[in-house]
Amino acid sequence: MSGNELKYIKDAFETNWIAPLGPNVDAFEKEIASYVGANEAVAVSSGTAAIHLALSLLEVSKGDKVFCSSLTFVASANPILYQGAEPVFIDSEPETWNMSPRALEVALREAAIKGDLPKAVIVVNLYGQSAKMDEILMLCKEYDIPVIEDAAESLGSRYKGIPSGTFGKYGVYSFNGNKIITTSGGGMLVSNDSEAMKKARFLATQARDHARHYQHRLLGYNYRLSNVLAGIGRGQLEVLDMRVMAKRDIFNRYFTELSEIQGFEFMPELQNTYSNRWLTTLTINKAIAGISVNDLLDVLANENIEARPVWKPLHLQPLFNGVKYYPHNEGADVSKQLFETGICLPSGTNMTDDDQMRVIDCIKNTLTIKYPVGL
Ligand SMILES: *Cc1c(COP(=O)(O)O)cnc(C)c1O
Repeated sequence: MSGNELKYIKDAFETNWIAPLGPNVDAFEKEIASYVGANEAVAVSSGTAAIHLALSLLEVSKGDKVFCSSLTFVASANPILYQGAEPVFIDSEPETWNMSPRALEVALREAAIKGDLPKAVIVVNLYGQSAKMDEILMLCKEYDIPVIEDAAESLGSRYKGIPSGTFGKYGVYSFNGNKIITTSGGGMLVSNDSEAMKKARFLATQARDHARHYQHRLLGYNYRLSNVLAGIGRGQLEVLDMRVMAKRDIFNRYFTELSEIQGFEFMPELQNTYSNRWLTTLTINKAIAGISVNDLLDVLANENIEARPVWKPLHLQPLFNGVKYYPHNEGADVSKQLFETGICLPSGTNMTDDDQMRVIDCIKNTLTIKYPVGL
């Protein structure tokens, strides 16, 4: 927390707005919409809820297909199953680790031939890195498929100067505890379509029709954000740009200290983009660096340093057994490769320089002992 949050929480208490609506919710929506340059924003209880609402608004239902990035957190795709629809997973490409336009093109072409085009494409911006939006949007436009941009990890990032999360028909942000700013739990749906956003608010408040009594025609959800938590969000948004700078400083220090190591390759930053560097991630080529990701995770854990593998691709998850998958290239499963060789280093903005140097020294010492020529 930055300290600014308490002011807004206090407002909520003093005005007795302890409800899933209220002035903080309205203001937080306006502030996010203005920050990212979207016409409208709807505050919800989680990023997952925002993705679910986007699919509902696009009338995704049983039997429909939805294309989705494979290398992502499971929450990107779970709402496809909530709707009874079928996911189809698209591989990553090596430059951004995000959705491969080439794999998407093959998937769309095949679907068009079969007369089985998806109802939506969910594009994820992993670890703050923007996907190749121009290429992806052009393909989706060609086939007239709406795009949902899962920007849960990329709030504060920009693609060609434009804020991440505003490229598709709908954009999704998350304020879960692990994200760059948090409300403890929460999310936001953004769009330029005001009519659709009106319907999003309606669906998120149990789809209550306009009547004195309780009247319902449609299936709704209890997905609104509490006015107390929206207060935390308002305080957090004030420090978002500082957080992004801190995250980028953390990345730069890791890069300066570790990028010379043979076999270490940091996640690139696509030209003309600005990543919030939510997590510092890199791949380790075991044959060259002399240590596997798993061994390095163990070494760090023994020093009480928490690092993580990168997301396990969804096409490899038992939950999605048998789901169709389009690799970047025939025989080149990029997301699987990234999973097997990728590591996320500690990237919390509350880390001190000394904390970070302890991580760096631990990695350097391990490599010197295991494989002296690696340095
Ligand atoms: C965190 C996250 C979500 C889900 O957000 P919640 O607020 O936790 O529901 C969705 N997609 C990605 C890529 C995420 O990292």
